[in-house]
Amino acid sequence: MWKCKKCGEEVGLRRGMLFKLDKNKDTSGDDLSIHDTDYYECSHCHNYSYSDVEEIAIWDEE
Ligand SMILES: [Zn+2]
Repeated sequence: MWKCKKCGEEVGLRRGMLFKLDKNKDTSGDDLSIHDTDYYECSHCHNYSYSDVEEIAIWDEE
């Protein structure tokens, strides 16, 4: 999972609800195109980024 650099909890893609992201930064849903209003957000501390999930999280193989 994408692990928050601040608190270690999971970071996902926020579009209304929080979608889980795989290693390739894709959601498992059917609509994979990133919208302008989407952003990456930590499920715990609400650390967020509009540009790249890697700005606030690191991939942790688990
Ligand atoms: Zn966090």
